Amino acid sequence: MNKFCQGPKCHRYMTTDRKRGTKGDKYFQTRTVGKYGYGDGNFCTNICLGDWWSKHGTRAIDHFGRLHEPIRLVPENAWIKDYTWGRNGSTEHSFLNKLTNERIPLTQEQYRDDNYTLERARAA
Ligand SMILES: [Zn+2]
Repeated sequence: MNKFCQGPKCHRYMTTDRKRGTKGDKYFQTRTVGKYGYGDGNFCTNICLGDWWSKHGTRAIDHFGRLHEPIRLVPENAWIKDYTWGRNGSTEHSFLNKLTNERIPLTQEQYRDDNYTLERARAA
């Protein structure tokens, strides 16, 4: 079953792949999303996603809940894996807290290992 682009102006972009019909009865129509759907698989392009947003975005935010206070990211959740270049061209890997600048040293293998978490580094 075809999944159509939800862009309200999709049919107005007059490309040959949107052109349908026979002589005397030609028209442009909304595209299907295709396998590279944008906006969680609902739009054929980012332009169509933007068109939808322009028409409905403010009402969508009001419907689902508008932020009235900023969201805070506290130090406990501000850790990233980081590396710095040493003077001799070597690299030093670590967990870095972007708020406190605290570092926990890592080996290169630990840095590359997606399963090597902050919890494991702290337990080591
Ligand atoms: Zn579209």
